[in-house]
Amino acid sequence: MNRGEMLGRAIARREPWDMVVVGGGAVGMGIAVDAASRGYDVLLVEQHDFGKGTSSRSTKLVHGGVRYLEQGAVSLVMEALKERGLLRQNAPHLVTDLAFVVPNYEWWEAPFYGVGLKVYDLLAGRYGFGRSEVLSRDETLARLPTIKTEGLRGGVIYYDGQFDDARLLINLAATAVEQGALILNYTPATALTRGADGFIDGIVARDLEGGLEFGAPARVVVNAAGPQSDRVRRLAHPDAEPLIAPSQGIHLVFDGSFLQGGTAIMVPHTTDGRVMFAIPWHDHTVVGTTDTAISDVPLEPRPQEDEIEFILETAGRYLHRPIAREDILSVFVGIRPLVRSGPGANTASLSRDHTIHIDPSGLLTVAGGKWTTYRHMAEDAVDHAATLAQLPEKPCVTRTLNVHGFHRQAENFRELSVYGSDALLIEDLIRAEPSLAAPLHSALPCCGAEVIWAARAEMARTVEDILARRTRALFLNARAAMEMAPETARLMARELGRDAGWQAQQVEEFRALAQGYLVGPRG
Ligand SMILES: Cc1cc2nc3c(=O)[nH]c(=O)nc-3n(C[C@H](O)[C@H](O)[C@H](O)COP(=O)(O)OP(=O)(O)OC[C@H]3O[C@@H](n4cnc5c(N)ncnc54)[C@H](O)[C@@H]3O)c2cc1C
Repeated sequence: MNRGEMLGRAIARREPWDMVVVGGGAVGMGIAVDAASRGYDVLLVEQHDFGKGTSSRSTKLVHGGVRYLEQGAVSLVMEALKERGLLRQNAPHLVTDLAFVVPNYEWWEAPFYGVGLKVYDLLAGRYGFGRSEVLSRDETLARLPTIKTEGLRGGVIYYDGQFDDARLLINLAATAVEQGALILNYTPATALTRGADGFIDGIVARDLEGGLEFGAPARVVVNAAGPQSDRVRRLAHPDAEPLIAPSQGIHLVFDGSFLQGGTAIMVPHTTDGRVMFAIPWHDHTVVGTTDTAISDVPLEPRPQEDEIEFILETAGRYLHRPIAREDILSVFVGIRPLVRSGPGANTASLSRDHTIHIDPSGLLTVAGGKWTTYRHMAEDAVDHAATLAQLPEKPCVTRTLNVHGFHRQAENFRELSVYGSDALLIEDLIRAEPSLAAPLHSALPCCGAEVIWAARAEMARTVEDILARRTRALFLNARAAMEMAPETARLMARELGRDAGWQAQQVEEFRALAQGYLVGPRG
């Protein structure tokens, strides 16, 4: 993954690409992997860093979606459960099984959720992760030592998958490159070009580092800009009716002591009728999420005060120990690229299924779905794009394609387990320079070798890329991440050949960004 080399090839290219993909989130990167592994020539451009959008801001679940079952969306759940199984098969270093307990405080909850979760097990078929069971009060307490005990009757346990979203995305980026795709971060598509017949025949992109604008001719352009898909569509169709009904969800992160025992809590009905999770993740506790319709789609969405209060209040109902604003280590916000179903629909009830839309100019947009189903969405989008561009038919191979880093015993790499087989190369860096093993902060395990690795092998260009997405420091503990910024900048500067001015600016910019992940006193 060498940005300079790939940029040079993209600029020099005169022949049309088979496919140009706009957007480097889960869906766009999935398309790059799918198309390249079929043998098509693909260029992907991302306006910021890979995963800057929604794909680093999810709840980190690889799941069928228990709540969609309640809405009767059986085929959607079955499809997602199948994809959950394929993802664990193809990226076992990143997808792990996680036990969830639905705590029961009313007499009817055990039979009700017990039966519902049995159906969930059955729908998974041979892709199952483990059998759900009704638990006694004592068994529930053994699983969830920090749960509120007053009125607790028992619980229902079931199993789903968990992952590190930004890390999977970076591993998919490496997979795309290995399969022959060319991918560029910090390269927004600024215009769509049209041929004499009026059809879209390429994009204009800008390299934000060098400032050069260049054309990329294409047989088909695929818009995978997630919540910002309508902005890309409007480059060609200024009056296009919006496809997306954006809705934001926030998560609060606490230290690991709020959820001891390694089991997650699933609350099937909050006071606003939603599902809420409290999940152990990288030795911390992540609690979320909300569903708030919004009108703008910024790259750095901000939490609303009532969203923070709502999560604190809901968590407080279920946790034994008091939970307060001062306990929040980080808050992160993502925007769902939900597809509109007509005026006035409430976003929580909008379908999580994906949509493929083709504008009259031939611009293909793929939106909706969820992280868990990115592979299936990519397969569908590439099938449609290949037909639209009259490319020779080539079968999809991603059902059995290993994701970069594939390793069956990655847990043996301890803190480096999420890197899978790349952990061996990071260990080599440490062997050559033992000081790189030192953690950058006492609160988090990230070490200097990870910074060097990300800058050298994973196209990290800024301190934010490393602290937000190559490692998850910003999402886990925003204050600690701010304190890690100077050493991260120093190591990056050494690797990328940058000067002291660059370092100072990077630290300043990162600290300004990280302020948005801190929660101050109310008011
Ligand atoms: C709060 C929340 C929790 C979620 N939890 C889960 C979960 O637990 N499990 C699950 O399966 N799913 C979950 N999802 C859904 C999942 O995260 C999304 O469906 C998925 O990440 C969307 O990916 P995407 O590629 O469509 O969008 P994005 O990740 O937003 O990617 C789009 C990219 O396009 C880029 N872009 C935009 N315009 C341009 C341009 N002009 N040029 C170049 N690039 C451009 C953006 O910068 C962005 O990086 C959750 C979503 C939210 C909001």
